[in-house]
Amino acid sequence: MLTNDKLIDWLTLFADELIANKAYLSDLDSPIGDGDHGVNMARGATFLKEAFSEKQPQNISETLKLTGMTLLSKVGGASGPLYGSAFIEMSKVTEEKLNSEALITNLKNGMAAVGKRGKSTVCEKTMLDVWDPVIKSLEKNELSSEAITTFVDKTKDILATKGRAAFLGERSIGHIDPGAASSGLLFSTMLKAGVLND
Ligand code: ADP
Ligand code: MG
Repeated sequence: MLTNDKLIDWLTLFADELIANKAYLSDLDSPIGDGDHGVNMARGATFLKEAFSEKQPQNISETLKLTGMTLLSKVGGASGPLYGSAFIEMSKVTEEKLNSEALITNLKNGMAAVGKRGKSTVCEKTMLDVWDPVIKSLEKNELSSEAITTFVDKTKDILATKGRAAFLGERSIGHIDPGAASSGLLFSTMLKAGVLND
């Protein structure tokens, strides 16, 4: 069950992981982008932690909205507006708690917002190549951190057709997509925060 407290724990863990993996995420972005994904996400993460302690959002909707607005305005790059859109879309919930079914529906809405904003879909070597299999695994109740690692690694095999990596064409193959890796952190911290437990 996702409560507001658990959501804040989850997103704080996500922010911590983004900060800890700043260099790694930027290194992934170097061969197929401009080497700033880790810097972008870590900046957003620092502002997000600050926003949580200053504003203390009181329900799931407020927390998701604050997250979306912070990522949208502070991350920069292509990924800021994309993550921002996902969280802002997901903030349109009215429930005080989300069970796993409601969480899955909400993640689907978030993923649709990324695709709409990015004019993108699966198999284009983006963060969507993690969101999509994660949601499908959640539906089968079989998401694990090992599975998430596999989804991130699998983006190596995909030819990029969206974002900066698309400029490389065939040469984008063989590299993990940085946004897929940051989304991997989003979902591995979701498991760590015990969002799916009762
Ligand atoms: P920029 O490419 O502007 O430098 P970042 O490096 O922060 O921005 O983010 C790059 C990541 O954003 C990519 O690895 C990819 O996952 C994601 N991305 C880029 N364009 C799109 C898109 N159109 N749809 C979905 N995700 C995208
Ligand atoms: Mg970049």
